[in-house]
Amino acid sequence: MESLEEMAKKVMIKMHTIPQLAGLSIGQLETIPLGYLRKNATRLHAVCRYKRGVRKKNVTGPSDVNRVDVHPDAMSEKWSRYASFLLYHEFLHALGFTSHNQEFRKLEALWPDTESQSMGKTFGKYLQDKSIKWHWQCPSCELKHSRTRKSNGRYRCRNCRIVLVDIPVKKGE
Ligand SMILES: [Zn+2]
Ligand SMILES: [Zn+2]
Repeated sequence: MESLEEMAKKVMIKMHTIPQLAGLSIGQLETIPLGYLRKNATRLHAVCRYKRGVRKKNVTGPSDVNRVDVHPDAMSEKWSRYASFLLYHEFLHALGFTSHNQEFRKLEALWPDTESQSMGKTFGKYLQDKSIKWHWQCPSCELKHSRTRKSNGRYRCRNCRIVLVDIPVKKGE
């Protein structure tokens, strides 16, 4: 597995070849500390955290950035192309394009690996599926809910009015 730093270096090299980004402080991106989100994060894929007291609208470049964090699961071979795109996305934020406006989306679309740009949906689905630990199941009918937490007897089947039971999800299922 490639390290986050190695991956980020390659992303910066690619960024240097994008003419529309010329004149931006791409070289300074190297100073941004990189890290990981929590392994069980399900909604965030990556984040650009600005320094304390820095307002989004006042961000001028990488010196205003505290760190960039990426979901650790994106670093596996299967998702690494998406991880590179995530870094690119967060680096655009770090360069001062802080909101997802039209200008940002135009720059984002310049990432040469176009296929990786559409991997967000499947990665999100993967994270969601991974987080399912329990099925809340009706002992009488087929009703079943997939959940991260146990129901602990708090819910009833909407068809049968019987209390749902917690069935652990087997790994690999
Ligand atoms: Zn963003
Ligand atoms: Zn039922």
